[in-house]
Amino acid sequence: MNEKMIEGCLLGTAVGDALGLPFEGLSKKRGQKLLGCPGNFHFLLGRGMVSDDTEHTCIVAQSLVLSVGNVETFQKALASRFRRWIVLLPAGVGMATAKACIRLLVGYSAKTSGVWSAGNGPAMRSAILGAYFGDDVHSMQPFVQCNARITHTDPQAELGAFAIALAASLASRGHQVASHELVDTFQEMTSQQPESAPFVELLKQMAQSIDRGETTAEFAQSMGLSQRVGGYVGHSVPVVLHCWLSNQTDFSNAVISIIECGGDTDTNAAMVGGIVGARVGRVGIPQRWLDGICEWPMTIERMSQLASQLAKSKELQVPGKPVSVGAIGLLLRNVFFLLVVLFHGFRRLLPPY
Ligand SMILES: [Mg+2]
Repeated sequence: MNEKMIEGCLLGTAVGDALGLPFEGLSKKRGQKLLGCPGNFHFLLGRGMVSDDTEHTCIVAQSLVLSVGNVETFQKALASRFRRWIVLLPAGVGMATAKACIRLLVGYSAKTSGVWSAGNGPAMRSAILGAYFGDDVHSMQPFVQCNARITHTDPQAELGAFAIALAASLASRGHQVASHELVDTFQEMTSQQPESAPFVELLKQMAQSIDRGETTAEFAQSMGLSQRVGGYVGHSVPVVLHCWLSNQTDFSNAVISIIECGGDTDTNAAMVGGIVGARVGRVGIPQRWLDGICEWPMTIERMSQLASQLAKSKELQVPGKPVSVGAIGLLLRNVFFLLVVLFHGFRRLLPPY
């Protein structure tokens, strides 16, 4: 059971990321004009590739396979993987994450590498923690904290990551989740943190919008985000959670609706895809989207293998050797990816505006 949820979360993240990537940074209006329907891949001749959101989710999954419930081992595994990740020329990396990874590289410890930022970095790689820990949210909490602080030290970033992990945890239990269930659990579990009050308020506004029957686009508009939902967790996370709660078993509609909001579309769709994926599993993700992802060396099948290792190491409580890919292959892939990203950058200078 747990394996299906973990696999759904990992592949859901990848599909959301790949579909949202060509729209990243565009306004809602420009995205529609330039690219059209988010339900089709627009990245590479009708195929899709994944970005940092999926890469980091895989890094978290690999670190969990190695650590099996030991947060110090998890932290060490994360740090060494982030160092390797940053030297292999990733394209389109968030500023705070890049700075923190460079700090790790030049010798900062995982306890001091984080920088002050409330960006999406920790939230985008936290759904997998919810799918992995399932209903054991108390064991999950220190892992969310460790995963967030290694790159981001603003408590808002950690709260955003916790909200995403909690959503995936609730989703993975297989029942329809009421918005107050999420808000109440979040409030209870973060009550010791004085900084959590404004975040709880945002989640309450989100729940009220669900009660009023508003669409996710209408909720985004009410938050002053009518053209883009950007990379600040106080914006992205409430809108992502609204989208998930409105489409808990409808993977396609969830992912398309969030991309249509514009802004940090790959990350937002990765988060929604990861949460909904944790509920519906691989079978709930359209096969044409899984087939449409053109990735190497970390293929969809390797991600699926990683999910199965993660479930197995959890079940047996024995650390495993996680699926990993060679540095040379990854470097070649990243150079190719960077060229495609540059092509999209130039394409955006041209009409239609
Ligand atoms: Mg990305």
